[in-house]
Amino acid sequence: MTKFKSLFILPFLFSILLFLGACDSDGNINFFSIDEDLKIGQQVAAELEADSSVIILDEQEYDTAYMFIQSITEKVLASNDIRYRTEFPWQVKIIQDDETLNAFCAPGGYIYVYTGLIKYLDTEDQLAGVMGHEIAHADKRHVTDNMTKAYGYETLFSIFFGEDQGTIAGIAKNLVNLSYSRKSETEADEFSVKYLCDTEYQANGAAGFFQKIINEGQSSTPPEFLSTHPNPDNRVEAINNNAREEGCSISPSGNNYAAFKASLPN
Ligand SMILES: [Zn+2]
Repeated sequence: MTKFKSLFILPFLFSILLFLGACDSDGNINFFSIDEDLKIGQQVAAELEADSSVIILDEQEYDTAYMFIQSITEKVLASNDIRYRTEFPWQVKIIQDDETLNAFCAPGGYIYVYTGLIKYLDTEDQLAGVMGHEIAHADKRHVTDNMTKAYGYETLFSIFFGEDQGTIAGIAKNLVNLSYSRKSETEADEFSVKYLCDTEYQANGAAGFFQKIINEGQSSTPPEFLSTHPNPDNRVEAINNNAREEGCSISPSGNNYAAFKASLPN
């Protein structure tokens, strides 16, 4: 999540207005409210829009490509396991960069997929699996959960309700180094299977991506979903086991993935 980490900037911390700490589905206390997840996501989206080095494909010019990727997103989001289906906007954008094999989803459901990833993958099932993984990071609120864990509920409370801006600056600096924990990565893989299990897609689609990385060797920069600890071999096995244990279909779905790739800029 290199790109996205760099986008956490100080103003967001000052812009936080609401304090409604809530428990997540696992009973963990999250200091941040759903609105704050949304605000972080909006901040990331605004930063990307303003960044002249980031080319986001125009939705009208590339309407065929967007129809395709929005259709995948909608199918995954139709899963009963999505908690914030209506609360988050779940917007999806395609970033034109054939060299970057990545996708990420900012808090609040702002999904970004690089053309490099779309072109690298072979099937819609694989892309749906990766998107399921990214959607899970947002729906499980991993960024704000991890921020709560990293700084502690009491510290965050005293900072947000005090005037200690030196400490706020220190936290903002550290946010740059915050990445998903191993636990979050494992959970995102598990939920990718759960989401896809409710769709026409092959529930272990994400494993197809990892298997391809294993078979072909990893490209230069590790993508977000490979940047932390579980190694691809273990993840393929874990994803396949999850799909089996949940009794999900692992038959490849029919798709028109080649047409999707062809609808992207060369
Ligand atoms: Zn991840």
